[in-house]
Amino acid sequence: MANDVWVYIEHKEGATTPMSYELLGIGRTLATELGSNVNAFIIGEQIEQAAHEAIQYGASKVFAVEGPLFKAFNGEAYAKASHFLLSKYQPEIVLFRATTQGTDVAAASAAHLGFGLCTDSIGLRVEGGQIKMTRAAFGGNYTVTVVNEKAKPQIATIRPKAFPMPEKDDSRKGDIVKEPFTLGESELHTKFLEFIQSQVTINLVEADIIVSGGRGTGGPEGFKLLKELADLLGGALGASRAAVDSGWVPYEHQVGQTGKTVKPKIYIACGISGAIQHLAGMKTSDCIVAINKDPEAPIFKSATIGIVGDYKVIVPKLLETFKKKLNK
Ligand SMILES: Cc1cc2nc3c(=O)[nH]c(=O)nc-3n(C[C@H](O)[C@H](O)[C@H](O)COP(=O)(O)OP(=O)(O)OC[C@H]3O[C@@H](n4cnc5c(N)ncnc54)[C@H](O)[C@@H]3O)c2cc1C
Repeated sequence: MANDVWVYIEHKEGATTPMSYELLGIGRTLATELGSNVNAFIIGEQIEQAAHEAIQYGASKVFAVEGPLFKAFNGEAYAKASHFLLSKYQPEIVLFRATTQGTDVAAASAAHLGFGLCTDSIGLRVEGGQIKMTRAAFGGNYTVTVVNEKAKPQIATIRPKAFPMPEKDDSRKGDIVKEPFTLGESELHTKFLEFIQSQVTINLVEADIIVSGGRGTGGPEGFKLLKELADLLGGALGASRAAVDSGWVPYEHQVGQTGKTVKPKIYIACGISGAIQHLAGMKTSDCIVAINKDPEAPIFKSATIGIVGDYKVIVPKLLETFKKKLNK
């Protein structure tokens, strides 16, 4: 148990997406190298479905804390349940997604238990029996390797899509261990009232298709055209930092080293030069389509398909063609 790898499974009031299980892939790789197991842990109400799926995605065991107080996410309640599990089982490393929920529970657990914490990791490997974690530092200008020599067990939050999704195997079997941890409302300082969806309803990280714009789009008007293409394809709108810094699109859309890391099936980059900091967030996309009027733009070196031209000419043509193909 002591050198097992644990993965936190996040959900929204019981609902998971395949991305909830993404860290079981790298968790299994680490566990194999450490000669241990990858286990999942879930805090919620009625967690059976999520626990079974965690096993199908690779967990050997799932530890669960259940109760009505855990139905919706409450950072304080979830952190208390996490403290209970982690101090009881003391795994080698605990992986959380670097999302709002994952970061909240990870930071509280590390602070409360005195565990070593590396946030926003983009790389994890075992070397000489030691886990090494990489993350960007100094505003993204450097990559540093972090080793927790003393503060063990250790916790890492991992950037979504930094590692490949594990395969789901419906025939996999494993144990679900329900833990006897309860909490009363009077023990909490905070109470969950309601969940209010952000006005910016994009899910860039999980999108299969992203249409992204840079400084070359020339302004917010250009982004309306890109949004039309993204909507038609059922995708999301992305942006370079230059476009975000210019105030043409909100930060939530930024892709790159200081934005989101994405891995869609298709990434259409319009008027983006291909700076290293932008590539850091999208270069592992399955297919990169670059539209740029400069044939020498660096983005073409990373592109699967390169189109040299003005996006204001190319994108309307794509819209017309896709509308015909999709009968819209
Ligand atoms: C520490 C640090 C962190 C950073 N983090 C990020 C990050 O997270 N994400 C990020 O994106 N950047 C980041 N940057 C900034 C990055 O270095 C670049 O400055 C930025 O990505 C450039 O954005 P761009 O490609 O939109 O603009 P530009 O580099 O100005 O490129 C615009 C491109 O548009 C093309 N173009 C112009 N007009 C048209 C047209 N009509 N049709 C087609 N093409 C056209 C041009 O040929 C050009 O290639 C970071 C920088 C630093 C120092």
